[in-house]
Amino acid sequence: TCITLCSGSACHASESRAVAVSFQEEIQKQGLNGEVEFRRTGCHGFCERGPIVVIRPDDICYFQIKPEDVPEIISETIKGKKIIERLLYTDPATNEKIVHESEIPFYKNQGRIVFGSNVNVDPKNIQDYLAIGGYSALAKVLSGMTPDRVLQEVKKANLRGRGGGGFPAGSKWEGSRNAPGDTKYVIVNADEGDPGAYMDRSLLEGNPHSVLEGLTLGAYAIGAQEGYIYVRQEYPLAVENVHIAIRQAEEYGLLGKNILGSGFDFVVKVHKGAGAFVCGESTALMTALEGRAGEPRPKYIRSNVVGLWGKPSVLNNVETWANVPLIINNGADWFTQYGTDTSKGTKIFSLVGKITNTGLVEVPMGTTLRDIIYNIGGGIPGGKKFKAVQTGGPSGGCIPEELLDLPVGFDELTKAGSMMGSGGMIIMDEDTCMVDVARYFLEFLTDESCGKCVPCREGMRQMLKILTNITKGKGKEGDIELLEQLAETAIEASLCALGKSSPNPFLSTLKYFRDEYEAHVKEKR
Ligand code: SF4
Repeated sequence: TCITLCSGSACHASESRAVAVSFQEEIQKQGLNGEVEFRRTGCHGFCERGPIVVIRPDDICYFQIKPEDVPEIISETIKGKKIIERLLYTDPATNEKIVHESEIPFYKNQGRIVFGSNVNVDPKNIQDYLAIGGYSALAKVLSGMTPDRVLQEVKKANLRGRGGGGFPAGSKWEGSRNAPGDTKYVIVNADEGDPGAYMDRSLLEGNPHSVLEGLTLGAYAIGAQEGYIYVRQEYPLAVENVHIAIRQAEEYGLLGKNILGSGFDFVVKVHKGAGAFVCGESTALMTALEGRAGEPRPKYIRSNVVGLWGKPSVLNNVETWANVPLIINNGADWFTQYGTDTSKGTKIFSLVGKITNTGLVEVPMGTTLRDIIYNIGGGIPGGKKFKAVQTGGPSGGCIPEELLDLPVGFDELTKAGSMMGSGGMIIMDEDTCMVDVARYFLEFLTDESCGKCVPCREGMRQMLKILTNITKGKGKEGDIELLEQLAETAIEASLCALGKSSPNPFLSTLKYFRDEYEAHVKEKR
């Protein structure tokens, strides 16, 4: 028997550490040492209900565990084989208790090929990752695949970057591989800063070796010998687990010199970000890595050709790298069975806001918003009506009820006036004022603008001023049109993606909820 306890940041905030201590003491006290294994794993995803305990192999799942529940779990369930009803999940639709994790709608309706491994591994123990086939993709590659074959497999899988723009990873890698020079870099963008988004955090905290393995495969494919993990320092558990993972991988000969006796050398360093949202932008991130102020630069030449210290550098986000070992192990044909024509594989979303089941969900691309919000998220709490879902982080947009059957994919979301972004999904109910929502995101972006170029720095300030006036009842006739002009200028003339996409929250709310803007201006004039 193995007892697993969810130990991501969200569960830590709900006493997960104290629960873990209680399990360790109780297993000893009740004489089960050696018979029962206890494992602290990564995030199980259902953060609303943590800390979560799953007893394997029976798949018994208990929620919101407190230290005082532990003696009963050991004596009743582990020893006595009895289910403790009060700790089970109650299905709000049927009011029935559900015993098994795999039968809970929140889990049953997902397709967790990347995030699913979190629940099986202790992120601080490389043995757990090895036990589920970890590093077998690296072993496969180093024992007979050429770098070009690795690259072609990723290209064939049409893996698109999960960090924002959805640029094909294989093409990015190819650009670096073909660029002149022997010194090249691979980088993990773990500077996840969107409000409400914590997918990358949970992957790094819960299964750091999957990201390291993907990064190593990428390094091999493009010919890099050095890699960086740029992680925000606000993610202390992720930083800690990544350091442990690197040390263990080095000890096992999976990083460093002559990996697995293949002659391939690759080292990874960790760089802690200093909390600037704009550093998630590729050129700003690389500038910050070089030790300078993290400001974007024009992209006349892409960073995969001239990047970190002027060398070809591939930057992908955490989730993108974590997909690579799966593609290499299972093949591009397996990967492309998931998803739509143009968006392959799965996507992890953080489902937050006015939603019954808050947490991290992973679904095949092409799953509809309705499925995510109702079948997995359990709908809107308190009998309220759904109003909109904001996707794509602060630079994304709000999608209204009439588009609930939209399949999630890079192009579909962009067409709807939003974007995939890194995967934040904030649900709003009927009580939400959409003008307030736009103002909130614009305020965030105004704070985070690096100030290097005028359309973004000054344009956003002006937009924020006008929007704030509108929400305070001081809106004037012509304000909406002026906002539209400022938005157009920011899109056309800003230097980087932050400025170019900054009007999205305004434009998408205006597109679908113009009446709210007009009502604000009229009512309060
Ligand atoms: Fe800085 Fe904004 Fe210009 Fe980007 S668009 S460089 S964030 S001022």
